[in-house]
This record gives sequence, C-alpha cells and structure tokens, in this order.
Amino acid sequence: MTAAKAGKHPAACDPSGVPARRRAGAHTGVVEFFERDPSGRFVPDQVLKVLQRAGVLADDPRIAETIAYLKRARPAGSSVTVEEFTAGTQRNSGIIERAARGELAVPDFPALVADVRRIHREVRADVRGAVADYIPQLARVEADRFAISVCTVDGQRFSIGDAGVRFCLQSVSKTVNYCLTLEEHGPDTVHRHVGREPSGQGFNELTFNKAGLPHNPMINAGAIMSCALIQQGLDAADRFDFVADAWRRLAGGRAVGFNNSVYLSERTTADRNFALGYSMRERGAFPPGTDLLDTLDFYFQCCSIELTARHLAIAAASLANAGVCPLTGDRVFSAGTVRHCLSLMSSCGMYDFSGEFAFTIGLPAKSGVSGALMLVVPQLMGIAVWSPRLDAQGNSVRGIEVCRRLVDCYNVHTYDLLTGLGPGTGKRDPRLRRDQSRIEGIVGLCFAASQGDLDEIRRLAACHVPLDAADYDGRTALHLAAAEGHMDVAAFLLCKGVDPRPVDRWGHTPLDDANRSGHRGLAELLANAVEASAAG
Ligand code: GLN
Repeated sequence: MTAAKAGKHPAACDPSGVPARRRAGAHTGVVEFFERDPSGRFVPDQVLKVLQRAGVLADDPRIAETIAYLKRARPAGSSVTVEEFTAGTQRNSGIIERAARGELAVPDFPALVADVRRIHREVRADVRGAVADYIPQLARVEADRFAISVCTVDGQRFSIGDAGVRFCLQSVSKTVNYCLTLEEHGPDTVHRHVGREPSGQGFNELTFNKAGLPHNPMINAGAIMSCALIQQGLDAADRFDFVADAWRRLAGGRAVGFNNSVYLSERTTADRNFALGYSMRERGAFPPGTDLLDTLDFYFQCCSIELTARHLAIAAASLANAGVCPLTGDRVFSAGTVRHCLSLMSSCGMYDFSGEFAFTIGLPAKSGVSGALMLVVPQLMGIAVWSPRLDAQGNSVRGIEVCRRLVDCYNVHTYDLLTGLGPGTGKRDPRLRRDQSRIEGIVGLCFAASQGDLDEIRRLAACHVPLDAADYDGRTALHLAAAEGHMDVAAFLLCKGVDPRPVDRWGHTPLDDANRSGHRGLAELLANAVEASAAG
C-alpha cells in the first residue's frame, strides 16, 4: 500500500475535517483550504470555525486582522470573493493555514478538549484537603473553585471552570523570579547565593544547605534570595513593575493583578519568612547591598501577584515554548534560562512531594498555597490548575489529581518515550493526528513486507503495530510478502499468529498471490498454515 492510498481512507482525514487533497502540496494560499460555492465565492465564517476547532480563539492577537475583517464584512454567513477574503486575511494566513492543515502542536485539539472536560468533571467530585488558613484572605477563598486551562506552544487554548477568576500566585511566583535572576546575573553568580538541590523539607522550613545557602529557588528561603538578586538598583515600585511586566509578557500581554490585602496579611504573619531572612543575613548569604526588609517586602508582593488560570496557562506555555510567548511571539526569557528553571521545577517545584511527583508525573511543575499549579510539557503545552483545597504538603489536591489523569491518558511523562504507545500503556500521543501512529505503522508494515525487510517488521512488531492489519484495499503484510516471494517474512508473520487466510477487496488470499506469482515454496508454506488453522 502507498501513503497516497492511506490518505484515501476516511481514518486518514485530518481532525480539522479538511479533505486530504486540499492539505497536500505546496503553499497555495488560505482560500485553497475551504469550500467555495459554484460561482467561486465562499463564506468566510468557515475560517473561524476551523480556527476555533483548532483552539485558536477569537481574542488571539495572531488573528486580529481576520476578526476585524469579518466584523467589517457583510452579515455573518454571506459570501465574499476570493480576492476580497485574501486581502482581508493576508497577515494572518500563516496561522490559518497551519490550523486548516492540522499542523498545530496538538493536531487533534477537540480530543484534548474532550479529555480536559472529562477530567474536570471527574476531579470536581474530589473534596479532600483544606484551604490554606494562615492568612484570612486565603481562608476566605471559596474552597470549591476549580479551573483547568491549557495552552499549547502554538497558542491553542481551552479553559473550563473558574478560569476567569483571579487568584494569587504565591509560590508559583518563584519560577519567574528565578528566571529573572538568571537573565540578570547568569547561573554562576545566582548559584553562589542559592543551591539547586531539593531540600526534602517543607517549603518554609528553617534549614539551609552545607554552604549555609537556601537549598533551591523554589522554596521560601531561595525565593527570598531571588528577590534580593532582582534589579537591586531600582526603587521598590520599579522592581515590582519589573516582575509584574515579566508575568504580563509571559501571559500574552494581559495585565496581571495585585492583591493588596493578601500582601498586607502576608507581611504581618511572616515570622518564619523574617526568620529565614535574618538567618541568611547572619550567614552572609545575601549579595552585597541587600536591604533585608525591602527584600522581604518585595517577596510578599511577588506572592500577591494575581492571574487567572487562563493567563497562567499561557505563561506555562511560554515556558514550554522555551521562553517565547506563543500568542505574541515575544521572547521573554532565553531558552537557557527556561531550561534551568524547568530543571529545578522538576526536582523541587512541588515542595516535599517533588520526588513523588517526578516519579509519577515526570514533568516540571510549580504549586502555590493558593491552590495554583502550573504544569509544563516542554515543546507541547502549559497547563494551569486552580483549586484551593490543599493536601498535607501544601499542594492542590485536585491539581495533583488533574496531572495524574493527564499523564494516564497521554504519553507526556518525560520517560514515556521509553515505553512507547503500546496497547498496555493505554496512552495516546497528543502530538499526532488522529490515528496517525496507527496509520503510519500499518503503511510501514505493508511497505516492509513488500520489500522483504524482516528487521523492520520485527521492529514494528516490537512497537505493537498489529501485524494482521489491512490497508484500504484489504491487503495485509502477508499478502504483500506472498506476492513478492519473501518467504522469511511470511514465516515470521505466521509464527506470530497472523490469520493465514485474509481476503482482500478482490477476494484474494495470500495463497492466491503466491500461486499467481509462482512462488511455490511460499505457496506450500501458506497452504500448510491454512490447513493447520482449519484443523486447529
Ligand atoms: N506567601 C507564602 C509564604 O511565603 C507562599 C508560600 C507558598 O505558596 N508555598 O509562606
């Protein structure tokens, strides 16, 4: 079977619903992907449907011109000429084409949406844990709030639940503060003041490493150190704006909030953070010129920055995208900075649950006592979960549960690449088009069988490609091996238990093919196998 034939099979259709003949070939212009009426005009609204299905939402800056054009254009549902439409959407043609071709990071975005909806529904029932109560502002948050938001590295977005409600970042702010220190000073200088080992202790434990430094930047002591390192020369207001601006850019240019009462409360109930600060000062851990009280104040302000899950997911996607915001193309951090940050999120981001999280979820993440959780799937997507009930370690109970379920259905754990997508794993690859791996496996198998490439067939078998799968014409690997006279391939397939008598669309079995092509020995082998299977 050829790839072209695979393309004819309905299962090979792109999830966008765009017929294969329109997807194939070189750059043809946006309109080539859409249906036209007999007079050559077409309804521009169909473009929006394709974008929406792919997760490219109407407020995406990359389709701003198209949206403006559609608003200006005649009533919804009416048709325009190709020239008019091309002129109106030219600046957005790149993203429209990629969405129509099914070439965005998660090609089958509707499947991801369905899974996130299901996970939200299932996990909502979980009411374990308790809201943080060390300050009244957190204790008063509605415990049942629950949002999940995803954003891919191509800016495909989906949110469910309380995704438009703001919450304070708390410890999630530690990620960006660390990135800012790296950008300003480089890792060598930064790590003269803070370690990079997990502490194995609670996030605010009064403990330091052997060098008398905070264990890492993802716990309180280390994050206070980050605050000491960020833009020391600026006054307090400008330092805060500097951090808030980084969050704004990571979140696609949307302004971030600040919860003043959380800040005031944090400041008045901060004995432990003061103790950490004084202890570090006593050890000489801070850079010269550090004003401890200003630094602590700055730390409380960073914890009090507010975002919605919708925007935190975009920020997480910017990290997944090596520091470039997928919606704006703005490079906020260098790839090297993000790499360091994700490394420490992987080993230290989930408090003293970090080892267990790395084992079961296998992805960089950071949680905060507000119930926020930011999860990064490098080169694929960012996910934000917000649910305020916390477990004993201070992590969002539902947040962890959402991560668990995502990793149950997708091969996104870092080391899933070792186990593949075998049937035993029950996992799918969100990077593939619907059925893409199955189709590619079958095409590869049939091709290898026709070429007599037994090594490749063994490899595909090890990757769980079904050896008796048939192509669009009902041709199996055994048919092709028989027709081409590849005895060793046929023997291997038979000993793996494939059906010796599959019938193609013309009514032919492998035995017919072997006889027709004059491969006598092979015909005998097949006849014996047919007989044995009839007897057995
Ligand atoms: N403001 C909190 C503190 O410093 C943040 C800690 C957290 O989210 N784990 O204690």
